[in-house]
Amino acid sequence: MTTNVEATVQTYSNYINGEWVASGTEMTADSINPANCDDIVGRYQLSSKEDLNRAVEAASKAQRAWRKLSGSTRGDILFKAASIMEDRIDDIARTMTREMGKTYPEAKGETARGIAILRYYAGEGMRPIGDVIPSTDSDALMFTTRTPLGVVGVITPWNFPVAIPLWKAAPALIYGNTVVLKPASESAVTCAKIVDCLHEAGIPAGVLNMVTGSGSVIGQGLADHPKVNGITFTGSNTVGKKLGQAALSRGAKYQLEMGGKNPVIVAEDADLDLAAEATVSGGLKSTGQKCTATSRVIVHAAVYDEFREKLLAKVAEIKVGDGLEDGTWMGPSASEGQLKTVLSYVEKGKAEGAKLLYGGKRSEEGTNAKGYFVEPAVFDEVTADMTIAREEIFGPVLTLMKVSSFEEALELANDSEYGLSASVFTTNISKALSFINEMDAGLVRINTESAGVELQAPFGGMKQSSSHSREQGRAAIEFFTSIKTVFVK
Ligand code: NAP
Ligand code: MG
Repeated sequence: MTTNVEATVQTYSNYINGEWVASGTEMTADSINPANCDDIVGRYQLSSKEDLNRAVEAASKAQRAWRKLSGSTRGDILFKAASIMEDRIDDIARTMTREMGKTYPEAKGETARGIAILRYYAGEGMRPIGDVIPSTDSDALMFTTRTPLGVVGVITPWNFPVAIPLWKAAPALIYGNTVVLKPASESAVTCAKIVDCLHEAGIPAGVLNMVTGSGSVIGQGLADHPKVNGITFTGSNTVGKKLGQAALSRGAKYQLEMGGKNPVIVAEDADLDLAAEATVSGGLKSTGQKCTATSRVIVHAAVYDEFREKLLAKVAEIKVGDGLEDGTWMGPSASEGQLKTVLSYVEKGKAEGAKLLYGGKRSEEGTNAKGYFVEPAVFDEVTADMTIAREEIFGPVLTLMKVSSFEEALELANDSEYGLSASVFTTNISKALSFINEMDAGLVRINTESAGVELQAPFGGMKQSSSHSREQGRAAIEFFTSIKTVFVK
C-alpha cells in the first residue's frame, strides 16, 4: 500500500482496480499534523483527471459482476473488513488524531463507529429489499425489488475521516454499487488506511477505488463524469450545491449533506448543570468542527446569568493541546485555514458589537505554538442579525442569546437558513413536545447535546443543510438503490 520516500514519511497511493498506484502526475502533497506543523503524517497523490478516469472505468467494469453477487456474499467482505479494522483500531485512530487533530479518545470512538457501520451494512445484505403488493389481477404476482445505481462517487470532508467515508461507501457497496471515493485532502492518509482494510478483506478489483487530489479536479470530475450514476457528498454548502447542479445537469442522482448552525434552547425550567455540560460538549468537542455542533445558545432571561456562570466555569476548565496527549480535552483546528476562519469570525463578532466573554485567541503556550490551536470562545449579547449568529463558523465558538419566552426561543432557533440539528433543555413535557413539532431540523434532541448520531438511525438536515435526502440506517437504501416494480403473470 505504501512506498517509502524518506525514512519516516510514507507516500500513500491511489487505490484503483484493486491496486495501490501512484498518480501519473508524479505529484504529491504533504498531510500535516495540525498539532505540530513540523510533523508530516504522510504524502498523498495529487491526481489528475486521467487517474480519475481510470478509477471510474475500473468501477464501471466491475459493476456487473459485483451486483450479481448475493447480498450476503458482499456482506462477508464487509464483515471481514470490520475485523481487520478492529485489529488496526489504534493505528487508524492515532493517524486520525495526527492528521486532523481531534483527540485520541474521540478518534478511537469514531473508528469503533466505523467498524460498527461496516457490520451494520454487512448485515443489511440479508435484510428485505422489497414488498409484495396485492395486484387487482388475482393471477398475478406484484412486488418491488431494488437495483443499484451503478457507479457511485463518494466525496467526503475531513471532520469525520473514518465514519463519513464508511457511512457512504458501506451502503453503496452492500446494495451492489461500485465506488470511487475522493476523500478530503486534509484526511487522505486516514482514508487510505480504511480503504486498505477493504483491500485486505478481498474486495474484488474495481469495486472500491480511491483517488486523492484537489477537490476542484477530482471532486468536480466525479460529479461531471458521464459514467458516474450517483454522487454522495458531505461538506460545505458552496461546494455541495455546485456538485449537485453538475449531477442534476446530466441526470445523475445526488445526495448532499452540508452545513449547520445548530441551536440549543435552555428553558427557564431546565436542569442548568446538564444544559451547561451538554452545551460545552456539543459546541466545543472536536474543536467545534462537527456539522451537528452547538453554535447558538438561546437562554431564557430568568436563568440566563446563572447558566452563563456555569457555562463559563466549564469552558475555563478546558485543556487545549495535542490530541495524542493524556488530559487534552480539545485539539487544534484541523488546518491553518480553519484557524484563520475562526479568528476572523471572532473579530467580526467583536466588530459587530457582541461581547467576547472568554477565549477566542490563538493558543500559543509551550508546544501549542507549533500548531493551529485556538482557545474556545464564548460571546455574550449576541443578536440574531450578527454574522456570528448566522454563518456556520465550524470552530469552537459559542454565541449566547437572551430570550424572554419559550415561543421567542423557538422562533429564534428557527431563524436560520440551516436545519441540521437542534436541542432543548427543559423539564416541561409540553415545551419538549412543542420543540419536537415546531423545530425545523433533521435531528431534534431533548435534554441532550445537539451533536451525536447513531449509525442505525436516519441522518440529514432540513433547509440549506441537505438535499433533503437522508443517509445512515435503513434510510441509506433510498439513495443507493432504485425501486423496480415487478409484475409477474
Ligand atoms: P468542503 O471544502 O466542501 O470539502 C468537502 C469535500 O469536497 C472534500 O473532499 C473537498 O476536497 C471537496 N471539494 C472542495 N472543493 C471542491 C470543489 N470546488 N469541487 C468539488 N469538490 C470539492 O468541506 P470541508 O471544509 O471539508 O468540511 C466542512 C464542511 O462540511 C462544513 O460546512 C460542515 O458543516 C460540513 N459537514 C456536514 C456534515 C453533514 O452531515 N451535514 C458532516 C460533516 C461536515 P479537498 O479536501 O481536496 O478540498
Ligand atoms: Mg492535516
